[in-house]
Amino acid sequence: MAPSGLPHALCVELARTAVADGAEHWSPEAALARAVHHRRTLLSPVVNATGVLLHTNLGRAPLALDHPARAINIELDLATGERGSRQRAVGGVLASLCGAEAAMVVNNNAAAVLLVLAALARDRQVLVSRGESVEIGGGFRVPEVMEQSGARLVDVGTTNRTRLADYSKALGRKGADVALVLKVHPSNYRIEGFVEGTSVEQLAALAVPVVADIGSGLVDASCPWLGGPPPAWLAGEPAARQTLAAGAALVTFSGDKLLGGPQAGIIAGRADLVAVCSAHPLARALRPGAHVLLALQRVALAHLDRSAARTVPFWQMVVAPLDELRARGDAVVRAAGVGDLVPSEAVPGAGSAPGTVIPSLAVRVPGDRLAALRAFDPPIVARTRDGATMLDLRTIHPSDDEHVAACLRACVS
Ligand SMILES: *Cc1c(COP(=O)(O)O)cnc(C)c1O
Repeated sequence: MAPSGLPHALCVELARTAVADGAEHWSPEAALARAVHHRRTLLSPVVNATGVLLHTNLGRAPLALDHPARAINIELDLATGERGSRQRAVGGVLASLCGAEAAMVVNNNAAAVLLVLAALARDRQVLVSRGESVEIGGGFRVPEVMEQSGARLVDVGTTNRTRLADYSKALGRKGADVALVLKVHPSNYRIEGFVEGTSVEQLAALAVPVVADIGSGLVDASCPWLGGPPPAWLAGEPAARQTLAAGAALVTFSGDKLLGGPQAGIIAGRADLVAVCSAHPLARALRPGAHVLLALQRVALAHLDRSAARTVPFWQMVVAPLDELRARGDAVVRAAGVGDLVPSEAVPGAGSAPGTVIPSLAVRVPGDRLAALRAFDPPIVARTRDGATMLDLRTIHPSDDEHVAACLRACVS
């Protein structure tokens, strides 16, 4: 390794590029600066001080994927010694968690929706409310996913109001060949005012299966793993267990949003439909790796044994009491010798529970220090408000408090 922390071969490449660029004031210092700049483009841990719990640019739910370098019984049935399914163990745990007959896991929720549509509705029609034909962000657009799956989108209702009768009419149309009704949680998008939607419960009365893309991955609205009532900001967020109980044939959601797991997509619901999805050729291309499945299994088990609030980092951030944040914040301000502690509003992020906030506290220092904070190692990502820099304690891991204080002291003095 060179002083920049980059392998020699990369430094040589950078030097060649610099010469080719006609670098005018080429010096060892300039070379080192270039290399350091390049090293900072590599992936590395960062301190999330933004107050956005599931920050899409920072990898959503923080989670350690720690597993010893050993083989895993990913596709081996230890009872029989025969080849097994990589979906069986974690699928079973997720099914229990959601109150589903069966579940399976793919790479992300976009893949889950794509697979469900390709496996269950290829060359057939899928009814979607015009108000739910949305773009979620990061290029997930319902009509485009539909097109890629080979299913045919049939818009029903209007942008602001869709009734059960609109679905029935589309089902009864001459030549209709409807495979599914797809209900999409519009996540970070909302229409207000003269609005009417159709619940899963109502849709379940139709003659075709209802698939609900709930996205955020709240598995149970009553949050039994919290040992108390669910937080106010979760009210109104659709949950897998309740959506299935209301009659959805399948739900799809992300593993790295409100579940707090690794990046994954979960399909849960009727066993016959999950079986068709897992037998589809795309399932092989969309399957996650062993480390992801292990981490997801660990997170799902932690929800089932009600320890998630203590052991899953996302839920640890959620339940941290304000008194604890205040004590930590006071200590950071004292050690930094700058700033003050002010009320703040953290947000769930990643399109989950849009428009809601989680009461929090932030260390505030005067001026815009964002670039300076990002230059530390590990980098600190914060926000500005009213000309000041805000570091929200709810999303900062407590073990990073000392680093944050030291960086604040260094960048303000
Ligand atoms: C987040 C989200 C997606 C995309 O999920 P990824 O896991 O990012 O692929 C799709 N649909 C809904 C409703 C979502 O909230």
